[in-house]
Amino acid sequence: RAKADGRGTYGVFEPEMGIAVRERHGVERDLECALARDEFHLVYQKQVAADGGALLGFEALLRWTHPERGRVPPDLFIPVAEERGTISAIGMWVLRTACREAAGWEAPLRVAVNVSAVQVHDPAFAAQVLAVLLETGLPAARLELEITETALIRNFDRAVATLRQLKTLGVGIAMDDFGTGYSSLANLRAFPFDRIKIDQSFVRNVDTNAQTAAIVRAVLGLGSGLGLPVVAEGVETPEELAFLKAAGCAEVQGYLFGRPAPLNPHETGIVPKADPRPDQAAGPGWAA
Ligand code: C2E
Ligand code: MG
Ligand code: MG
Ligand code: MG
Repeated sequence: RAKADGRGTYGVFEPEMGIAVRERHGVERDLECALARDEFHLVYQKQVAADGGALLGFEALLRWTHPERGRVPPDLFIPVAEERGTISAIGMWVLRTACREAAGWEAPLRVAVNVSAVQVHDPAFAAQVLAVLLETGLPAARLELEITETALIRNFDRAVATLRQLKTLGVGIAMDDFGTGYSSLANLRAFPFDRIKIDQSFVRNVDTNAQTAAIVRAVLGLGSGLGLPVVAEGVETPEELAFLKAAGCAEVQGYLFGRPAPLNPHETGIVPKADPRPDQAAGPGWAA
């Protein structure tokens, strides 16, 4: 997996390290001007209630369309942007765009925005978030920032301070990819999380793999004990959903409910209604 072996390692290109290095230089160079060239856009994926399928919100996911390479996956370019520092500007663009778009939705749904370690460790970050909320008019309670625990441990005290400031603003904080980082349990106690997102690696085949099922049940127990709602990511099959629902998981997200897709409520004035069927069935409001 591209991500597993650490920052900036191009796992996908491993068989040919020469290609990896060349690709990397190209990506680094082109990332510098991607913002100015308007090559980014956001797609949104539904987050729904496990029981009944009510639409609760959307997660914003960044997409980069390179003029020659075409679509570059975020797992590939975000680590590069983090290393080069470009993630600060890109992250602000994501935040501003997601808040502006969400402020235009007809329904006051939550918008979840992924935040990188570099942003959390910037002492100015909470002030920047506040400025974006004021500028876009999005109520703080509708914004949720998704942060991985690995992002928090680099500078523990700084990260705690930032998250407390965000909390004071009224912004929600979700622990993303729970179970894949370090010392999850200590982090749950130290940081003011509002939600836990179980990583999709624990959702895959949860209905047939006894070990996975035991882990997911434990996370759900933890969430309920701490009073934190749990979102299961990457739900693809009705069987996975059935298991999660029976085990008491409150919220779900995954291809079963919809793939990440552009959402243009400014153009249509319509926010898509919750639709438990896969994405082909998406109604008006979803632009191609
Ligand atoms: P993430 O935040 O954990 O996002 C979930 C990823 O799972 C997304 O991949 C989403 O498209 C994918 N996914 C959703 N449902 C399913 C499913 O049912 N099956 C499978 N196989 N996959 C599913 P994506 O969009 O490629 O993003 C990958 C990662 O890149 C994200 O993981 C996040 O860590 C990062 N990322 C994306 N956008 C941003 C951003 O704006 N800022 C930052 N800092 N990171 C971002
Ligand atoms: Mg996320
Ligand atoms: Mg995740
Ligand atoms: Mg992830």
